[in-house]
Amino acid sequence: MKKMLSAVLALTGLLVLPAMAQTYPSKPVTMIVPFAAGGPTDIIARFVSEHMSRTLGQQIVVENVAGAGGTTGITRAAQSAPDGYTIMMGHMGTHGAAPALYPGLKYDPTALVPVGIAASTPILIVASKKFAPNTLQEFVAYAKANPDKLNQAHAGIGSVSHSTCVMLNGQLGIKPTAVPYTGTGPALNDMISGQVDFMCDQIVNLAEQIRGGAVRAYAIASPERSPALPDVPTTKEAGLPDYQVIAWNAIFAPVGTAPEITARLNDALRKALADEGARNRLLNLGAVLPTDSEQTQAFLGDFVKAEVARWNKALAAAK
Ligand code: ASP
Repeated sequence: MKKMLSAVLALTGLLVLPAMAQTYPSKPVTMIVPFAAGGPTDIIARFVSEHMSRTLGQQIVVENVAGAGGTTGITRAAQSAPDGYTIMMGHMGTHGAAPALYPGLKYDPTALVPVGIAASTPILIVASKKFAPNTLQEFVAYAKANPDKLNQAHAGIGSVSHSTCVMLNGQLGIKPTAVPYTGTGPALNDMISGQVDFMCDQIVNLAEQIRGGAVRAYAIASPERSPALPDVPTTKEAGLPDYQVIAWNAIFAPVGTAPEITARLNDALRKALADEGARNRLLNLGAVLPTDSEQTQAFLGDFVKAEVARWNKALAAAK
């Protein structure tokens, strides 16, 4: 009888799953980053996954799968086997703005299993040093006077850089020529060399280049200045108080991933965020780290729902 029962359980997979979860991870885990290497999502993924690998005793291998504002990589990750060996680093674009802009989106951000928030990232309006306007006020005047000359880089429709600049352009009543990239890492390089004029992007991509004088920072779209960039004025100080926006990056697993597995991943992420070295690397680039209560899986689940609703509204209003 016992034998028969285990045969039935094995057939239905009931025995297999807890056993798998117990030994997880027994091989390397792939973390899909849906943008090019060197950009903010990639930087955050590499910082946290390095420490998480040590906790898990298995390597987390970052795989960059760029395209369509990050939705290509997230679709690939979402459609992977829900066994904990493929996870994804999503963000405010792929898991907040994308549903409003892709009617045929092949994943539901609110259905993916939340693992945890890795970092919040204030948004800055930045420009090439080869681009004439020196301040936000000068930029606004130039943009209004030269609507056909202005170029703006972004990381694809629905990405953070795209959606946050849709908001900015809507507020200013301007329509720059949009130049899409596979991520804001490569976009930043082109902006530095003067091939594009400006963009809106996550602080972690920009802090070092701003401190080093390679790019011009017009303003940070947060209520307070960033301790990582104390010289950069807030949008309020620079004369654009209504432009307030913050992005974030977070880890998710495919629908159906066992709770024991995502709990282990959440624990490893928390340990990474508690590690002084990992923390300091993120803080130095201007990231804002989640508090204890913001580090739970439940918090991220609720947050994603709120973000999808918020961006639906914000993008409809900006059209
Ligand atoms: N920050 C980028 C965005 O605009 C993506 C990236 O991480 O490269 O969504």
